[in-house]
Amino acid sequence: MEFNSIKTGFFSMEIGLKDSIPTFAGGLGVLAGDALKSCADLQLPVGGLTLLYRKGYFRQRIEQGRQTEEEQSWDPSEELKKLDNRVVVRIKGEDVHIGCWMYELEGVTGQKRPVLFLDPDTEQNSDYFRRVCDRLYQGDQKDRIAQEMILGIGGVKMLQSLGYSIEKYHMNEGHTSFLALELLRKLAETSDDYSKRLDSVRSMCVFTTHTPVPAGHDRFDKGLVTEMAGEYLPPEPEARIFDGNELNMTHLGLRFSGYINGVARKHSRVSKKMFPEHDIESITNGVHLRTWISEPFRKLFDRYIMEWQEDPFSLRAALNIPEQDIWDAHMCAKKMLLDDVNERTGIGMDMDAFTIGFARRFVMYKRPDLIFHDLERLRKIAREKGAVQIIFSGKAHPGDSAGKGLIDQITDIQQQVNQADDNINVAFLDNYNMKIAKRMISGCDIWLNNPRRPHEASGTSGMKAALNGVPHFSTLDGWWLEGHIEDITGWCIGLHPKDPKFDEDVSPDDEAEDFYDKLESNILPVFYDDKDRWQKIMRNCIAINGSFFNTHRMMQQYVMEAYFK
Ligand SMILES: *Cc1c(COP(=O)(O)O)cnc(C)c1O
Repeated sequence: MEFNSIKTGFFSMEIGLKDSIPTFAGGLGVLAGDALKSCADLQLPVGGLTLLYRKGYFRQRIEQGRQTEEEQSWDPSEELKKLDNRVVVRIKGEDVHIGCWMYELEGVTGQKRPVLFLDPDTEQNSDYFRRVCDRLYQGDQKDRIAQEMILGIGGVKMLQSLGYSIEKYHMNEGHTSFLALELLRKLAETSDDYSKRLDSVRSMCVFTTHTPVPAGHDRFDKGLVTEMAGEYLPPEPEARIFDGNELNMTHLGLRFSGYINGVARKHSRVSKKMFPEHDIESITNGVHLRTWISEPFRKLFDRYIMEWQEDPFSLRAALNIPEQDIWDAHMCAKKMLLDDVNERTGIGMDMDAFTIGFARRFVMYKRPDLIFHDLERLRKIAREKGAVQIIFSGKAHPGDSAGKGLIDQITDIQQQVNQADDNINVAFLDNYNMKIAKRMISGCDIWLNNPRRPHEASGTSGMKAALNGVPHFSTLDGWWLEGHIEDITGWCIGLHPKDPKFDEDVSPDDEAEDFYDKLESNILPVFYDDKDRWQKIMRNCIAINGSFFNTHRMMQQYVMEAYFK
């Protein structure tokens, strides 16, 4: 590893590289992992920083509709290399010693980039601090502040201890914002002019916001923060850290960043309304090609598209692949998925039946139950237009009882229809992870997403589906506003942005109605009766959306617009 090869530190509370390193919960972490993989492919001087969660997020089991949670224990020494470096972070007046593990991410050219996992489980620390990073996104405010101090402050110190000379610090969401306080503190050794120091910190910091849902932003009690992180708070009266009696981690990150972006065009407009004091640019998310291409499509691209692995933009040339070959590759991927579903559940899903996939975090605004809004209508459509199979997967946060209720509800309906209907079959795969995601996005016939607008910042699973020729059926939110061409790359649900009522709150009744109308009149008739058109749509998904919504394009934009400007 050439240590001077890293100029940007990419900080993220979760990084998802693969299932055997279970330090991620969902989209934010998988995106961070995909971004870093593209950095290694493109030989960009970027390295990742996150925390080592020895018990992961959680392993999900569904028993009689109930989600139960188990530890995801794993052995870091099987996956990562332990480094000797130690740094100290002062938390609540105590010296907390932080160790570090490294994963060497190997790019397509063989070049390597580091991903660093900070670890407070060192023998000098008290039991509390040794265990404080055991689990991702769990624990009380105090635990979360400690975790975020270890990541932000410990991360800056660790990069220095490893000898990197970092020019840019990328805060991937507000959990990482404490890093700015450490940069500010270090600069105080050479300058006592606060506004100059603030300018220097801003010139080094980049912030990406990922959620337009206010509850998604970390907020901590001012008294508690002062108690825990007092030594890192700038003493200058003009320093703006708190909002009234709280610390909002997103506001903190925004104030110290010279470049800020949202993760899709629509999302940056929504973010501007939430944070009117700041300029918010937009870089739309992507996915990492080699990670998300299924085996049958990898073989197909190897045959028809030169150097697609090095150059994702070359997927445009998918337009040259015979439709039948795309269909055959898809049927291979579908067989792998259905074999897996049938083996796990014994449901007996059918290769010829239209198969809808829905998998993501189970939270209210993503509305996994919308498809069952009018069960009688769905039954009628499946009877008249052709059989429908639906595969669900997804975890609810252990503290989100509404999200868990949704799993309960879906599994209830599942039992009802699987017994009563010949034309509808429903499966729920437990413990959603990257492996299941890859099976599902490539093996379903259509990928469904129906978040309540404008709550989906970007969404990435639909991009993974597009790469594998699977069309998207979604409300016009997040990335889909940019990727949607009706009847060409998929279908939309509900209003179009040209509609004057687009920015108003819409009733779920109307959106469900539109969902059923499209399924009945535009989608099932093409799938069952016009295979030629269906296959052309599949091919468009790869050529139009796969060639653009990837992390190679995304990282090149970060380089041009955020890192080296
Ligand atoms: C891609 C992915 C996500 C994110 O999907 P969204 O469509 O953005 O919700 C979540 N979890 C896993 C395991 C993934 O692979």
